[in-house]
Amino acid sequence: VVTEGDAYPSRTVLIAGGIGAFTPRKLPLKDVDRWYGRGLHDRILDPQVFSGKRVLLVGGGDSAFDWAVNLQGVAQRILMIHRRDGFRAHAATVKQVQELSAAGKMELRTFWELKEIHGADRIEGVTIVNNKTKQQERVLVDCVVPQLGFISALGAIAEWGLEIEKGEIKVSQTMATNIPGIFAAGDIITYPGKLKLIATGASEAAIAVNHAVHFINPAAKVEPGHSSNMAIFGQTED
Ligand SMILES: Cc1cc2nc3c(=O)[nH]c(=O)nc-3n(C[C@H](O)[C@H](O)[C@H](O)COP(=O)(O)OP(=O)(O)OC[C@H]3O[C@@H](n4cnc5c(N)ncnc54)[C@H](O)[C@@H]3O)c2cc1C
Repeated sequence: VVTEGDAYPSRTVLIAGGIGAFTPRKLPLKDVDRWYGRGLHDRILDPQVFSGKRVLLVGGGDSAFDWAVNLQGVAQRILMIHRRDGFRAHAATVKQVQELSAAGKMELRTFWELKEIHGADRIEGVTIVNNKTKQQERVLVDCVVPQLGFISALGAIAEWGLEIEKGEIKVSQTMATNIPGIFAAGDIITYPGKLKLIATGASEAAIAVNHAVHFINPAAKVEPGHSSNMAIFGQTED
């Protein structure tokens, strides 16, 4: 297996990538990439970068609400917009944000969407649009923080030639994929009756590992035996 960091010689691979690699969902604007590093942040590593800044938060989920609360006292001004009036966030945090908005400590607007970002070298403002009235408004902001959830993708694994069904890797009862030597387990796989649970994932990993050992050394038993029979606790043969 070759990664960005190194190469790992092996005769078998066990893929346990869950639902894949996550990346933040981007704003659906044509020139969006231009603004990264110039005031557009779709992930926040250090809230202090918003110190004294006018921030536009976009979204109506937990992350948007959490940042509306956590940037209080850091950002100079917070405007939060969401395209509808239903939220997918913890009720207590929604209430907290509504109270902050009522107290004038931030502004929460529903049915508003981001139409355009303006600026020369950095973000200087945005145009937002009310999706009901079509009213447009230009607002001065220094930063735009979209919190639109994440998209997951298989990444490079999708190009290995594996049999994939609806974004999941097909496996047999032995957790073998269609490529000899490549096994998979957990949320990333599919087979009839598959359940995405911790218990099933752990069990599939045990099945995959034991069949991988057998693949490397066909003389090895698939059934690994039990620790209680391994004389590691001083047991003797019956
Ligand atoms: C909100 C939520 C609640 C849940 N609650 C329960 C519960 O109560 N009980 C229960 O049994 N199950 C629960 N589940 C399901 C359970 O979390 C999963 O079934 C389990 O975590 C799957 O394990 P996994 O190892 O297959 O994947 P994951 O735990 O997702 O691990 C996959 C790992 O692979 C990494 N990865 C992905 N792609 C790559 C790549 N290309 N290169 C390197 N690394 C990569 C990921 O970053 C991640 O660390 C819940 C799931 C969610 C989302």
